[in-house]
Amino acid sequence: MADCIFCKIIAGDIPAKKVYEDDAFIAFHDINPAAPTHLLIVPKKHIETLADCTADDEALLGKMMSLAPKLALEHGARALPEGGMRVVMNVGPDGGQEVYHIHLHVLAGERPWRGFA
Ligand code: IMP
Repeated sequence: MADCIFCKIIAGDIPAKKVYEDDAFIAFHDINPAAPTHLLIVPKKHIETLADCTADDEALLGKMMSLAPKLALEHGARALPEGGMRVVMNVGPDGGQEVYHIHLHVLAGERPWRGFA
């Protein structure tokens, strides 16, 4: 999508602090981190919201979830049982979504941290 900021990051047109990339996903540090570790896991397929996903996207969504703890632990999350992480997807205006290209927030690090609204 021409005017989508995450599509521009995927295309390499906008820089990002990339931590992971494969054929289907890119992950990078959030530009305005709300926790010591704040990653965004973004599918390369442009889907506006979680509510727009279909049965064809189930494998994509599963892979996105399974990447979350792996990338968090590689980038500052503390291991369980002391540590852990928060994994969040905002959906639509009432969910606080600002970028309409689905993405998973992965927040971690020793508390306190503010999280995000
Ligand atoms: P949303 O509210 O769930 O849509 O979250 C969008 C997130 O994208 C916010 O946490 C922003 O800080 C983050 N963000 C927006 N633009 C960029 C960018 O260019 N690089 C990295 N993160 C970004």
